[in-house]
Amino acid sequence: MSKLENRVAVVTGAGRGIGKAIAERFASEGAKVAIISRTEANSQSAAESINSKYPGLAKGYAVDVSDSVAVLALGKQIIADFGSVDILVNNAGVTRDGLALRMSDEDWDVVLDTNLKGAFNLVKAFQRSILKSKCGRIINISSVIGLIGNAGQCNYAASKAGLIGFSKSLAREFAGRAITVNAICPGFIQTDMTHVLNEQQKEGILKSIPLGSFGEASDIAHTAAFLASDEARYITGQSIAVDGGMVM
Ligand code: NAP
Repeated sequence: MSKLENRVAVVTGAGRGIGKAIAERFASEGAKVAIISRTEANSQSAAESINSKYPGLAKGYAVDVSDSVAVLALGKQIIADFGSVDILVNNAGVTRDGLALRMSDEDWDVVLDTNLKGAFNLVKAFQRSILKSKCGRIINISSVIGLIGNAGQCNYAASKAGLIGFSKSLAREFAGRAITVNAICPGFIQTDMTHVLNEQQKEGILKSIPLGSFGEASDIAHTAAFLASDEARYITGQSIAVDGGMVM
C-alpha cells in the first residue's frame, strides 16, 4: 500500500513551485489533495496536471490565505467535498524585500499576513477535522532565513521564524491526540520565487552551500511526504533544514 493511501491533504500555495511538487508527491503516494493557490488559473492547472497522472485525486481551489473569513468558508467547502482532512501543509508564501529602515508598513503587513497569519487561518479552518484524524499532520514551510535572518528580509525572516514558534506550540497542543506538527526550512530552491535573483546574487548563495548546488522543489516534497507518513509518527515540533548544508 502507498504511504498516504486513504488520506486527505490540503496544500496551500500549490499552484506552482514547492507547493505543487508537494501536492503531486502526496498524490503519488495515494493521497487525495486539495490544491489551494491565490489564483484560480494556477490552482486549476496544477490540479489538472496532477489528475492527468493520478486520476481523480486533486481538486483546485482559489483563496487568499490571509483572508480569515474566506479561508473559513473554503475550509467548509473542502470538508464537504472530501469528507475530512488529515494533513495540512502551510506552504503559501511571498517576499517583499527591502531594508528595515525603508520598509513600508504595507510590505511588512503583506508578508506577515500571508506567511504567518495565513498558516494560523488554515489551522483554524481544519483543526477540528485534523484532531479527529488517526494520522493527523501539520507541516509548515518555513525557511533557513527564519533560522539565521537575512539583510533586506526582516519581514520575511520574522514570518518564517514565527512559523517555527507557531509549529512548536501547536506540536505541544496537539501531541495528546498523536497529531504531529513540524516545520521544513528550505534553503535555496529553484522556483519562481528565486528566479528573480540576478546571477551575481545566485553565485554568492551557491558559495554558501556545502553540497554545491541549488535545491529542487522535489527535495522539499520528499521531506514533506516523509513527515506526512506513518514512518514519521515520532517526530514532532522539529524544524528540518533541507538546504544542502547551508545552515548547520
Ligand atoms: P512561488 O513559486 O512564488 O509560489 C508561491 C505559491 O504561493 C503560489 O502558488 C501562490 O499562488 C501562492 N500564494 C502566494 N500568496 C498567496 C496568498 N495570499 N494566498 C494563497 N496563495 C498564495 O514560491 P515557492 O518558491 O514555491 O515557495 C513556497 C514556499 O516555500 C514559500 O512559503 C516560501 O517562502 C518557501 N521557501 C521557498 C524557498 C525557495 O528557495 N524557493 C526557500 C525557503 C522557503 P499563485 O500560484 O496563485 O500565485
